[in-house]
Amino acid sequence: MADCIFCKIAAGEVNAKVVYEDADTLAFLDLNPQAPAHALIIPRRHLPRLAAAEDIDAGLLGKLQLTAVKTAKLLKIETAFRLVTNNGKAAGQSVDHLHYHLLGGRKLLWPPG
Ligand code: 5GP
Ligand code: ZN
Repeated sequence: MADCIFCKIAAGEVNAKVVYEDADTLAFLDLNPQAPAHALIIPRRHLPRLAAAEDIDAGLLGKLQLTAVKTAKLLKIETAFRLVTNNGKAAGQSVDHLHYHLLGGRKLLWPPG
């Protein structure tokens, strides 16, 4: 999608520190990390938010979770990490391309703010 920063990263038009990629998904380090390890897991295909996913996207949503696990292993945080998506502005979503935050490398508090 034109003017979507994450579509541009997926297309290789904008630089990012890619940790893992395959045909359908991509994991790269967040520009403004909130933990020692902070990656973003995205589908290559533009989906604005999790709530925009439909039944046909079930396989892709599963792949995103598996990409998160592979990325957690590559970042050596597989024993303790958080995977979260902000769906909608009031939940903190600032980029309208589905992404999961993978966070680890420090004690993570609960509940989040
Ligand atoms: P949200 O606030 O939508 O849940 O998360 C968006 C995340 O994308 C933020 O953590 C922000 O730091 C990150 N981000 C925004 N633009 C870029 C970018 O161009 N490159 C990278 N690597 N991360 C970005
Ligand atoms: Zn996009």
